[in-house]
Amino acid sequence: MNDCIFCKIIKGEIPSTKIYENEDVYAFLDIAPINIGHTLVIPKKHFVNIYETPEDIMLSMMKATKTISKAIKSELNADGINITMNNDLAAGQIIFHSHIHIIPRTTDDGFSLWHGKRPYHEGESKEVASKIIQAL
Ligand code: 5GP
Ligand code: ZN
Repeated sequence: MNDCIFCKIIKGEIPSTKIYENEDVYAFLDIAPINIGHTLVIPKKHFVNIYETPEDIMLSMMKATKTISKAIKSELNADGINITMNNDLAAGQIIFHSHIHIIPRTTDDGFSLWHGKRPYHEGESKEVASKIIQAL
């Protein structure tokens, strides 16, 4: 992908602060961290999102995510870590090259997640579950 920022980062055409790399993945500091140490794990090949990324590459991304998370937790004294992956515009994806966010958290950082949670209505959970299951 010629105009993909993350492909340019992998090629070294755009500078980045490297944290880790192996044959499949590259990890680097997010340029605008939610908290210090916020890291992105990306496949070296261009895939747009989770749907397009092959399973073995997703596995490599998750393995790297675990390794890096442990290092961040111990060395940056994170009280917690959020692992997120935004897929599609509606979910907040801005860069359309598959990536996992590793976001270190502290108990007093003031961020909160997921306003607007609600319980299922009567019968709704069974209906939703069967829709998902029949598509697996
Ligand atoms: P998304 O919203 O697509 O899940 O997240 C994209 C992330 O990429 C954002 O957190 C943003 O700060 C980060 N980002 C965008 N451009 C660059 C860049 O050129 N370099 C680095 N290191 N991070 C970037
Ligand atoms: Zn790309």
